[in-house]
Amino acid sequence: MNGCNPSKTSIQEERMPTYHYRCKNCGYDFTKYQSFSDDPITTCPECHEEQVRKVYSAVPIEFKGSGFYRTDKS
Ligand SMILES: [Zn+2]
Repeated sequence: MNGCNPSKTSIQEERMPTYHYRCKNCGYDFTKYQSFSDDPITTCPECHEEQVRKVYSAVPIEFKGSGFYRTDKS
């Protein structure tokens, strides 16, 4: 049975850019997978203060038509 149940697919996560946030209030830092259209996180999940800043963002591997390769598995 693989119907339309949108269970977590790792493929989808790989396509999502990773954003790194850090809370200026408590120092908590975390990474978050978000799509390009998602709003940036501003509220800290730890202290719930709006002191979170995006400190780093990484775009995943570029998807090219014929040359998708990955380095972790062969
Ligand atoms: Zn915090």
